Amino acid sequence: MILQIDAKLTKQMVDAAEVAFPAEACGLVIGRGKGQLIRVTRVVPAGNLLATTDDRFELDPAVRIAVEKELRDSGTKDRIIGHYHSHTDGTADPSATDRAMAHEPELAWLIIGVLDGQAIQTLAHRLDEKRGQFRPVPIRTPKAKIALATVPEDQA
Ligand SMILES: [Zn+2]
Repeated sequence: MILQIDAKLTKQMVDAAEVAFPAEACGLVIGRGKGQLIRVTRVVPAGNLLATTDDRFELDPAVRIAVEKELRDSGTKDRIIGHYHSHTDGTADPSATDRAMAHEPELAWLIIGVLDGQAIQTLAHRLDEKRGQFRPVPIRTPKAKIALATVPEDQA
C-alpha cells in the first residue's frame, strides 16, 4: 500500500491534531484505488470517546456507521481506507496500545505526532497480520499539475 495524500488533506488532519491537544484527535480516512496505490479523497474528523493523553482513542462508531452508509448510498468508489489519530508525545509510530487495538489489516493507520501542541511528523502504518506487527506505509503527495514557470515574473 502507498498512500497519496493531498497537502490540504494532510493539513486538515494536522490542524485537528493541534486543536485537540493535549487530548488525542481521531478521524476516518476515505480514499479510492486498486492495487498498491490508494488516493486519499477526504478525511472526516470523529469524536474521540476516550479523549485522554495516554494513547487511548476510540473513534465514535456512529461516525463510521454514518460514513459507511453515505458512501454506500452515493454509489461512489470511495471507501474507508483507514483512520488517523494523534500522539501527544511527538511520536508517529504505533504504540503498544495501538498494536493491541489493531484488528483490521486492510486499514491504514495514520499517526500525527504532536509535541507541545505542534504537529511534528505524520506517518502511516498497516497491520501485518502474520507477524502481528505494524509495517510502514509510504505517503506521497500528488505531483503539481501546473509548472512553476507560469507564475509571471512581477508576482514571483
Ligand atoms: Zn496511537
